[in-house]
Amino acid sequence: MTSNQPPPEKMMFQLTLRRRGISDQAVLRTMEEVPREKFVEASDRDGAYRDSALPIACGQTISQPFVVAYMTEQLQLQKQHRVLEIGTGSGYQAAVLSKLAREVLTVERYRKLADAARVRLEMLDCHNVEVMLGDGLNLPPNIGPFDRIIVTAAVERIPENLIERLEVGGILIAPVGPHQGVQTLTRLSRSDAGIERRELVEVRFVPALPGVAREL
Ligand code: SAH
Repeated sequence: MTSNQPPPEKMMFQLTLRRRGISDQAVLRTMEEVPREKFVEASDRDGAYRDSALPIACGQTISQPFVVAYMTEQLQLQKQHRVLEIGTGSGYQAAVLSKLAREVLTVERYRKLADAARVRLEMLDCHNVEVMLGDGLNLPPNIGPFDRIIVTAAVERIPENLIERLEVGGILIAPVGPHQGVQTLTRLSRSDAGIERRELVEVRFVPALPGVAREL
């Protein structure tokens, strides 16, 4: 084995993503570049490159790598894009987005998660990400518009006030369905003609909840 080959767990990671249908080279490269072990709890580092969701602080989860790669691929990101993420969690999805877009604003309702993600993203040189403490379901009107919007917590329906922040030519992706159980990943594309809606795959996300969390 030559020294510039990735370690075996990262090679398996790539193989799993490809086998599950991720084919966008830029997305695959980014998934290889972003160190997921830095976004999980210390006790989960050994399992960081398995294709599963893992627990993080405040009873939340870092998404399964396949779902991160799939949602990113569906966004069809370009270098000039401004992206909004609702649900920072660990900051992992935001780090992936930051490598493929111009700027990322990511919103989290738990202060503890927002603060930890901000430090991590700074340490990993993701300087084009802004982490904001707030309620992504009820953002101030002066925020946006965005080329891409990604919601990484389950919503029963896509909030109108997010759709309104989408540029013409924009794409929004969100897990839509009941808070408990299975949701359908749904993609909205805005064109001059209106909004086109497509249902993609089934996923399981933690719920999007209203308001900034009172707990630290
Ligand atoms: N994208 C994350 C995983 C998301 S888990 C990652 O890469 O690690 C979903 C996150 O959405 C949780 O951290 C949860 O606190 C947050 N969340 C739920 N409702 C929210 C809301 N209304 N506004 C902002 N964040 C919210």
